[in-house]
Amino acid sequence: MFTEHNLVVKDPLKVEVRFASSYPNLYRSAMSSLGFHIIYDLLNHQQDVYCERVVYPYGRSLETGSPLKDFDVVSFSLQYEQDYPHVLEMLREGGLDVRKNNRDSDDPLVIAGGPCASSNPLPMSPFIDLFIIGEAEAILPEFMDIVRQLDNPREELESFIDVDGVFIPGMMQESKLVKVEDMQDAWRPVKQVFPETHNKELVPAFGKSFLLEVSRGCARGCRFCMAGCLYRPRREVDIKTLIQTAEDGRKATGLNKIALIGAAVSDHSQFEFLCSELVDMGFIVTTPSLRIESVTGDLLEILKTSGLKTITIAPESTWKLRGVVNKPITDDQIITAMDTAFKLNMNVKLYFLTGLPTETDEDLQEMMNLIRSLQLMAPHQDSLRISINPFIPKPHTPFQWVEFDHGKIKANINFLKRNLKSRHFKVENPNKSLIQYVLSMGDANLGDIIEESSHRKVPINDWKKLTPHWNLEKKLPWEVIDIGMKKKFLVNEYKKALKGDLTPWCETFGCYNCGSCHEK
Ligand code: SF4
Ligand code: SF4
Repeated sequence: MFTEHNLVVKDPLKVEVRFASSYPNLYRSAMSSLGFHIIYDLLNHQQDVYCERVVYPYGRSLETGSPLKDFDVVSFSLQYEQDYPHVLEMLREGGLDVRKNNRDSDDPLVIAGGPCASSNPLPMSPFIDLFIIGEAEAILPEFMDIVRQLDNPREELESFIDVDGVFIPGMMQESKLVKVEDMQDAWRPVKQVFPETHNKELVPAFGKSFLLEVSRGCARGCRFCMAGCLYRPRREVDIKTLIQTAEDGRKATGLNKIALIGAAVSDHSQFEFLCSELVDMGFIVTTPSLRIESVTGDLLEILKTSGLKTITIAPESTWKLRGVVNKPITDDQIITAMDTAFKLNMNVKLYFLTGLPTETDEDLQEMMNLIRSLQLMAPHQDSLRISINPFIPKPHTPFQWVEFDHGKIKANINFLKRNLKSRHFKVENPNKSLIQYVLSMGDANLGDIIEESSHRKVPINDWKKLTPHWNLEKKLPWEVIDIGMKKKFLVNEYKKALKGDLTPWCETFGCYNCGSCHEK
């Protein structure tokens, strides 16, 4: 059985613009993405637009079964670099040539947005006509106005050049990332679509939940975090609006479970109050990762009462390397938070990174010792899950000049696997990480390998040959995108990282003039 609630039904023949919002990953991931819901709701509020959803591996819409070829605009949400070959598979399935230069003049305009498109659009530029750089509701309304005015938007791409947040490769030298400045202006989808199904593969990540956006952006300044750099500063929704949206959402969906969404939800100035209000209103509250500073006994009690079983914490590495990545949380804070959670019979998930800049064999050994000592705290084997991921440098972060050393990462992972034996210990495959590195840090020359990997598995050595080598002297391909943050600030952060120097949180220690806030 599979049905969907709140599906939008319109007559495709009676609208001005047919828009395919495509997600190059499985249905459950698509429906867990608030951005995907925002686009659907925002565009379907426009009478003359019908926005339909298309999810991987299909090339036809969920609403009417129409192939991508039949739409006026086909948009892809690029959340993860690994999804790039999926975009090509979907285009093919939907009756379109993957290369933009081979498509016909009456084919749809193919656009892409999302964090990967916004940070470095170049690798996907052979396939995508136009990129949306930044947050959808700050760009799409003006973009759609122009689409309406044109007979053939694909043939008249120059008409979009003046839209803030648009980047057209080959036609524009640069573009600026656009954000919603005041969260009162952010789009809040209330009538969210959700599935009714017994098939676990189709259930979204937070289960059948209403997604409530608490905040956007985060200025904590972790030096590996691309989202943190792109979407600074933190912008929060006021508590009254949050409570009202939760109530409206319940009316529109009938759902009693609520997932709090944001880059750093627990940094919300009234986070504990919000959680306790929602629990009092009868909601089951779930939230992704918590900042350790916000994990208090009271907060966990509230979350536990509302049904949350597991908390996720990211210690990243040892104390020394936390200085390098600018995440100054102590081992004691980690231990206290875990202890509080275990006392409440909650489970804990811990995330670590290996391969961070300046990491030595001694650091790795020390991280392993730390993990072992944390494992000893678990009341039983199932109450602690540990996940270790290779560190992958990302564009627009202070670590964009760091090399990804595949051989070293492989050796580290093997060492950890040999020494950390537990049923709930997961490590990411270093080959997959190398591919992600190449895709995120490359340029338009990656077109051939992306296309090849949309047909077959490409040998890892072929990816390795494309490993980019950037340094402070070279111009970086993604510098065509101005995210607001100044290069001088990034360089300074990189140099501080190598010395292990901290840049404390600007929200409490004052502004560093990084460039992300307009008025500074
Ligand atoms: S706390 Fe750090 S990792 Fe988390 S969103 Fe903020 S900058 Fe990124
Ligand atoms: S401009 Fe200042 S306040 Fe704004 S994010 Fe940067 S450092 Fe923080």
